Amino acid sequence: MQISDNKVVSIHYTLTNKNGEVLDSSSDKEPLSYLHGNKNIISGLENALKGKQVGDKFNISVPPEEAYGVHDEALIQVIPKSVFQGIEDIEAGMQFQAKSDEGIQIVTVTKVDGDKITVDGNHALAGETLNFDVEVADIREATEEELQHGHVHGPDGHHH
Ligand code: ZN
Repeated sequence: MQISDNKVVSIHYTLTNKNGEVLDSSSDKEPLSYLHGNKNIISGLENALKGKQVGDKFNISVPPEEAYGVHDEALIQVIPKSVFQGIEDIEAGMQFQAKSDEGIQIVTVTKVDGDKITVDGNHALAGETLNFDVEVADIREATEEELQHGHVHGPDGHHH
């Protein structure tokens, strides 16, 4: 079986940045399972997996545009402390959910200067070229329910 749209794919992977630092790995965990062709994973990695078979190993470098996006200065904002109603101590590093035109967004506090709070809505890996070492562990047909939901169910997937 080859990887194509609507197959459930399990992969082992090691993610490193351009300096060779390991950011994430499945090596001591269960493989990552996702529903191919449903944007469950970053597009650069999903595209590279198309047509692969169980046991295939490869390495791919994914530019920011096909990973977590380029760093966008417009997503950095200075907002008054009064916006954070009911939260006493705001510190750099805290993360909040914010509602935006594109849905729920995670913002990280990067600076606190009196009543001025600087927040950054960029993904932590925005602007990074990501290197993946990948091994395809399993490929199976998706269930009807998984296709309806657009994600994987079961022990290594999504739980309801
Ligand atoms: Zn579901």
